[in-house]
Amino acid sequence: MSKYIYCFGDGKAEGSAADKNLLGGKGANLAEMAILGLPVPTGFTLSTDCCIDYLAEGGKLPESVHQELANAMTTVEESMGMKFGDSDNPLLVSCRSGARKSMPGMMETVLNVGLCSKTIPGMIKQTGNEWFVYDAYRRLITMYSDVVMEKAEGIEPKDGMGIRIHLEMILNDYKNDHGYDTDAEIPASEMKEICEKFKAKIAEELGTVFPDDHNDQLLGSIGAVFKSWNGKRAIAYRRIEHIPDEWGTAVNVQSMVFGNMGDSSATGVAFTRDPASGENIFYGEWLQNAQGEDVVAGIRTPNPLNNKTKMDHNEHLLSLEDGMPELYNDLVKIRKLLEEHYSDMQDIEFTIQQGKLYMLQCRVGKRTGTAALQMAMDMHSEGMIDEKTMILRLDPQQLDEMLHPVVDSDAEKVTTPIAQGLPAGPGGALGQIVFSSEDAVRWHKNGQKVILVREETNPEDIEGMRAAEGILTARGGMTSHAALVARGWGKCCIVGAGALKIDYAQKQLIIGSQVYNEGDFVTLNGTLGVVYAGQLKMKDATENPLFKQYMEIADKYRTLGIRTNAETPEDAEQALQFGAEGIGLFRTEHMFYGSNSEQPLFLLRKVILSKSIDERIYALNELFPFVKDTIYKTLEVMDGKPVTFRLLDPPLHEFIPHTKESKEELAQATGIDIAELERRSSLLEETNPMMGHRGVRLGITFPEITKMQMKAIFEAAAELLKAGKTPLPEIMVPVTCSEKELEVTKAICDDVYSEALAKYDFDSIEYKFGTMIEIPRAALLSAKMAQTAEFFSYGTNDLTQMTYGFSRDDIGSFMGDYIDHAILDDDPFASLDEEAVGELVKTSAERGRSTNPEIKLGICGEHGGDPKSIDFCHRTGLNYVSCSPFRVPIARLAAAQAAINND
Ligand code: PEP
Ligand code: MG
Repeated sequence: MSKYIYCFGDGKAEGSAADKNLLGGKGANLAEMAILGLPVPTGFTLSTDCCIDYLAEGGKLPESVHQELANAMTTVEESMGMKFGDSDNPLLVSCRSGARKSMPGMMETVLNVGLCSKTIPGMIKQTGNEWFVYDAYRRLITMYSDVVMEKAEGIEPKDGMGIRIHLEMILNDYKNDHGYDTDAEIPASEMKEICEKFKAKIAEELGTVFPDDHNDQLLGSIGAVFKSWNGKRAIAYRRIEHIPDEWGTAVNVQSMVFGNMGDSSATGVAFTRDPASGENIFYGEWLQNAQGEDVVAGIRTPNPLNNKTKMDHNEHLLSLEDGMPELYNDLVKIRKLLEEHYSDMQDIEFTIQQGKLYMLQCRVGKRTGTAALQMAMDMHSEGMIDEKTMILRLDPQQLDEMLHPVVDSDAEKVTTPIAQGLPAGPGGALGQIVFSSEDAVRWHKNGQKVILVREETNPEDIEGMRAAEGILTARGGMTSHAALVARGWGKCCIVGAGALKIDYAQKQLIIGSQVYNEGDFVTLNGTLGVVYAGQLKMKDATENPLFKQYMEIADKYRTLGIRTNAETPEDAEQALQFGAEGIGLFRTEHMFYGSNSEQPLFLLRKVILSKSIDERIYALNELFPFVKDTIYKTLEVMDGKPVTFRLLDPPLHEFIPHTKESKEELAQATGIDIAELERRSSLLEETNPMMGHRGVRLGITFPEITKMQMKAIFEAAAELLKAGKTPLPEIMVPVTCSEKELEVTKAICDDVYSEALAKYDFDSIEYKFGTMIEIPRAALLSAKMAQTAEFFSYGTNDLTQMTYGFSRDDIGSFMGDYIDHAILDDDPFASLDEEAVGELVKTSAERGRSTNPEIKLGICGEHGGDPKSIDFCHRTGLNYVSCSPFRVPIARLAAAQAAINND
């Protein structure tokens, strides 16, 4: 029979930190803290297996759980010297979710479980505080009705007004009607009355009665946590974070400790190091006389933990260091112990009940990329972690945030901020104001950059936060939900900007006398917590010396080469700065797109529309200097490093003018009359151009185009050689499916090469000839392809398209459904599908090497910048990956991690 429940407390536990899969992160760490002898309130964890079986049985606990539950409860009762459901000395418990990975989207917590008519009198007798007991009861009713009776039952609130809002309104109206400013002013007898009003409202709104039995409350809470695994919010979070549905969540039932038992009680959240900067200082927030989620909910601005971390907004507030110095010292000791034990920064939650400290949670803390880098380097120099661990500590994606723009400080100097808040998430963000998560998602889908502005965020906002460039909230501290989530994603975020007044109904943000409407632009500096109206100039983050040092150490471990996909000398330069070791893909068609391309594009159009070969050769000769010049400059920038020039790939029709005006312009410039021009263009139209006349097929039909490109490459290289440089060109043939295509193209190459040698009087010019492998047939026939090709570059964009039969340009309409239905875990165009596309790459690599053991193998599809795909490339023994310039550092780190993890 399976065991479903695991106890912890009193210096021992039935599990440990190693059991995250079974006990969830929270449960495993509670067990570990108990073993470490830390003051953890006694409790037990219902395992993730229990969740899976509960859901499999349609929302029923497995039979054996009931007996296990009774036994576990007895253990807790004995430890605490109280009894659950007892009328004299009742034990109350909390019920919290805890999946394998922390999921800020699921804040399913029910506190004070066990308070009912039978236990309330005993509780009053034990605490001598009637007000406290009815306040606890009010909180239980609120949380239970919200989490268990409404959300877990999948009840969609009418007009977005959930039961929690109804109950909060009752409390607020009561206070207004009676002239009470705070909850504490409400007399106990009236708090009791409010509880009755709450229960009546629940019956009215939800049609069910709030349970008055301790066991019903416990079972209801456990079931709700399990059900929440399949709730809308949890599913949305899992999709974003790629968390498998099969994991399930655990439930932690723990004896209650109260942070709201007067002024010697408190609750707080802390990080063993600063999660925003990474600095080695104890950083946290606390609230006196407060319970549970008050700190993270961002409703009151919390106090600073210590004096060193005080900031402008909380300078006047009492620190724990000053307010409760002995307990603060205890906490400092725990900080040290936990960091040393876990060798990583921990995020901890604690409660102080009448002068006694309890630990409620510890977990590896989320941090910004900058902080992750700082901590990894510091912990290594402190001797806490070895060098490999240091390299594994950063999520490669986190580097992104260090390379992306920040607000230009010169622009900031001359602009007055409109508001100031807490710097919760780093970097800069610029966008249009929206006021709801739904609008953020909608506007983002329309290609607009948005800043999500909210009073405070809650888990329902998760998708909007993801879609937004930045997040700005009026309330909340550095440990509020918004801050936590934004930091996890490395997203720019400012919280607790107290000057903000938000009118959701009018969709207006009011700051002083100034009104900002939906759609108005704002700029955020998340590193300083400053908000500006309008669009400020942004610039690249300046080079961080720590980052450079870290990357150099990572490079020591890496065996994969890292190249970049670049088409201009400027991009090449940028990529070199980021550490690229060559260009793995220069798409020659890019010479005809973008800025300064009018003239070459015009000439290419002449080539395409020419009627005879002579006309075409004439136009190609005109085009030649432009092509050679770009190639020359790129080879010059990349001196001594290989540059893979891919021959023209897109179908020619793509370059034809499509508007009436541009057609007329071309007709006039070429002297071809418009009707003839239309006729020649229409001949190029194809039903399915991506599988049509493109890539190598163009060169088979129009070898003169290939010749011109090759001539430009060899002549540019020859001239650079004459100038004392070391050009290393590589010629790459796209979209091949047969070795014969390669042979025909190689014959052209040989001729052009000989002509160049003769013209420049060289015996040889170093170059390589190779092909993309992006069609399954080419992958399977790689042994033959390798007879001619000296290198293969896997074009995994097209290879994925052809393997799945999914058009890479049209997946937007159905990919979301495939992910939602869990048919696919990931978008295969973003992360390489190892099962089939990867199998083709592997097979091709083996077969290619069987013919030519020296063949160079690389990847140049989008996957070349995806850490998971890079791990695959390492395992498959490729020589290099190639990705866009901004992903080069990510690829460098991912390749180092792949080497450390696999070798
Ligand atoms: C590919 O197909 O993976 C590739 C890199 O080429 P393109 O994206 O230009 O088709
Ligand atoms: Mg391709």
